[in-house]
Amino acid sequence: MPDCIFCVIVSGEIPANIVLRTPEVVAFTDLDPKAPTHILVIPTEHHENAASLAVANPVQAAAVLAATEQVATEAGLSDYRIVFNTGAEAGQSVFHAHAHVLGGRNLGWPPG
Ligand code: AMP
Repeated sequence: MPDCIFCVIVSGEIPANIVLRTPEVVAFTDLDPKAPTHILVIPTEHHENAASLAVANPVQAAAVLAATEQVATEAGLSDYRIVFNTGAEAGQSVFHAHAHVLGGRNLGWPPG
């Protein structure tokens, strides 16, 4: 998807602080972190959100979830939150499926 910023990160046309790259996923630090550790894990295929990814490519959806654990552990986190915003009212601003991996402080519950 040429107009998708995350597809452009996958293709390497714009830089990102990439912490993990596999054939299935790319993980990179969020430009505007909401916690001391804030990493985005995205599938290399373009799908609008996590559910549509899971329907279209369950292998890649599982790879995203597995990668959240890997990047959290490598960042030194034992406790962390995984967030999949779905839809604008839920805070989704980039319509390429992505997991937010957040940690490094007490995140509280429920979220605001
Ligand atoms: P969401 O609001 O759930 O769609 O999350 C999109 C996230 O992508 C936000 O937290 C943004 O800060 C982050 N973001 C947008 N563009 C970039 C980029 N070029 N590099 C890293 N993070 C980005």
